Amino acid sequence: MEDYIVSWVISGVLFWTTTFLLVRNVFRDRSFDFCNRVVSIVHAAVAVGLASLSVQHWGCPVCPLASRSSAVQMKALAVTLSYLIYDLICCLFDKIPRMDNSVHHIVGIVGITAGLAYGMCGSEMVAAMWLTEISSPFLHMRELLKELGYRDTNLTLAFDILFAAIFSLARMVGGPYLTYVTLTADYPLLIKAMALGLQLVSAFWFYKILRMWVMASSSSSSNSPCAACKFLRRKCIPGCIFAPYFPPEEPHKFANVHKIFGASNVAKLLNELLPHQREDAVNSLAYEAEARVKDPVYGCVGAISVLQRQVQRLQKELDAANADLLRYACNDIPVGLPVPPTMASPMGAYRGTEFSRRIGNRGGPLFQAPALAVPSPPPWSTDIFSGEKILRRS
Ligand SMILES: [Zn+2]
Repeated sequence: MEDYIVSWVISGVLFWTTTFLLVRNVFRDRSFDFCNRVVSIVHAAVAVGLASLSVQHWGCPVCPLASRSSAVQMKALAVTLSYLIYDLICCLFDKIPRMDNSVHHIVGIVGITAGLAYGMCGSEMVAAMWLTEISSPFLHMRELLKELGYRDTNLTLAFDILFAAIFSLARMVGGPYLTYVTLTADYPLLIKAMALGLQLVSAFWFYKILRMWVMASSSSSSNSPCAACKFLRRKCIPGCIFAPYFPPEEPHKFANVHKIFGASNVAKLLNELLPHQREDAVNSLAYEAEARVKDPVYGCVGAISVLQRQVQRLQKELDAANADLLRYACNDIPVGLPVPPTMASPMGAYRGTEFSRRIGNRGGPLFQAPALAVPSPPPWSTDIFSGEKILRRS
């Protein structure tokens, strides 16, 4: 691989990592996944832009076939390779790495590295990059909107439809054509295998999207009303304020909330809140209602005071255990050793001076203490502080 490509890849990894850290700093109260998706959207835009710039004749965007890669194509591929390396590392930091995602990354990394090393078939690879990246901003936007609280809105539906349409066209029409071109041309076996691998991953995702849509359409065709409308025996109209938060599968959730707070109060509250605050509000109402149903007198406060009493009891036990340990530790301290103020006990002090007197030294410099360090703060003392913190927090 040429030197300038290696330095492009290394600076690319640094660039994406820095971008991620910046995004994480800007969206402090958003999740790791949210920030990662923002970086992914930036990459998709950059990759599609670079891929479009590298096209030599728009009459045949994949031409020239089976030829040496141009410098622009190599740079575009280096940028995406650096992004894939960054994203693979990022995925490992997040939660359990997803199998299909990791396979996608590894296939991409090995494929692009092979292409860059041979310096061949840049047109086909850049075209593949364009096809794979063109749909990803729509997928990420959908997830970002979900986290911002716009779940089940027309906006998310629009992104869903756009994503499904663009993904299907790019991956299942453009993709197979490119794979066919790559497989029939005179290429090294590794490049052919990678092209086939990428297409198989695309086909797997296409199958997942298809299954999701079939499931979604079958559930909407059954047209079951939300739990609230079912409970109140009324027609669940599109845009029903309760529908996103009270799914028909959880009838007791609305029953409890209605019993404690009243349906009209809940509707009023939801209308006053911003869309992204509603889910948290409903969860809080449902939790409080459930506690109140279980304990009509105290509700949530009952649970809190039970836990508080438990913490206090455990704190007392911990204090007693600490006092015992401290007593044992004092008795083990060798005589003549400077006793830290916390360890000083009348008994220990008496034994030290008595022994010194007996050997005629009075604890002077001649009396060497054995090599025992002054006891550091005992490890259990940290528990005392965390216990206090719990108490204060509650
Ligand atoms: Zn409804």
